Amino acid sequence: MNSPFATTLAGSLPKPRWLAEPEKLWAPWKLSGDELAEGKRDAVRLVVAMQEKAGIDVLSDGEQTRRHFVNGYMEKLEGIDFKNLKTVHIRNRYDANVPRVVGAVSRPAPVHEEDAKFLRSLTSRKIKFTLPGPMTMVDTLYDEHYGSREKLAMAFAEILNEEAKGLARAGVDVVQFDEPAFNVYFDEVRDWGVAALERARQGVTCKTAVHICYGYGIKANNDWKKTLGDEWRQYEQTFPLLAKSSIDQVSLECQNSHVPIELIAMLQGKDVLVGCIDVASNRVETPEDVAKVIRAAMKHVPAERIFPCTNCGMVPLSRDVAEAKLRALAAGAQLVRKEVTGAALAPA
Ligand code: ZN
Repeated sequence: MNSPFATTLAGSLPKPRWLAEPEKLWAPWKLSGDELAEGKRDAVRLVVAMQEKAGIDVLSDGEQTRRHFVNGYMEKLEGIDFKNLKTVHIRNRYDANVPRVVGAVSRPAPVHEEDAKFLRSLTSRKIKFTLPGPMTMVDTLYDEHYGSREKLAMAFAEILNEEAKGLARAGVDVVQFDEPAFNVYFDEVRDWGVAALERARQGVTCKTAVHICYGYGIKANNDWKKTLGDEWRQYEQTFPLLAKSSIDQVSLECQNSHVPIELIAMLQGKDVLVGCIDVASNRVETPEDVAKVIRAAMKHVPAERIFPCTNCGMVPLSRDVAEAKLRALAAGAQLVRKEVTGAALAPA
């Protein structure tokens, strides 16, 4: 990336209301069969056009092809029963009805390779593709087969590795693994979480990112955040491990967050996808709000390693709000770009 502050997004964007119920997580599809397949592609066309118009540099498909960032992937795998769900306390935070692992997990066919090729055909800009991370997959299931979260995570890591290699071959520039569970299970992150992530990225020829957040702006997450105190130092435990890892980029939340920004200095040598857009609020940031976060990040990370981004996925927002937030993100990055260029040209 030539100019600093290339903008990108965590992943998801709202779906059109003719495709799925708006402002809802895991909303059922409104179409089926060939209509659904065509509808998903049309929705991807719309979000690509929206991101290009807003001035985003590294585009995603907005996760228009899947209902949920974890289950949307897992439902294409074998060894998992999606019919008879089990209620489990997930993320140490809330009860959810989750699928059951009933046998060895495997991927009968590539899940997103065709989606990635289609996205690649729509734009000449860089593209990223998101996949769930191994630990977050394990934490969104009830295991009746492996008897070990680590073993199951490693089985998923091998599957994700094949998927990520295929996405890179399809022309994807960044494969991102979403690991919100990394903000919850610190001992497991240390013992096997980062190892599983590195297994998933092994030999992948494009850049790889990990997204670690405090979750979508849903009630269970907002209530949990209230218990975390004034300063959120969860990243302090994972960043040193990630700095030593083979992952290229780390995506995290900073806008309206209680995360002390200086923690990002621990990610030495990594690209930092700095969350400049709050996804838990309908208030649209001003370009100056965005610029403030970028300037704060610049005190701890070299400018060329900063990628202004959203805090998390935007699927629960309205399309208008999401679009306005993307425009603010690009405009805020442009503000700081001008400042930096101006400073470079000024006489010493
Ligand atoms: Zn997130």
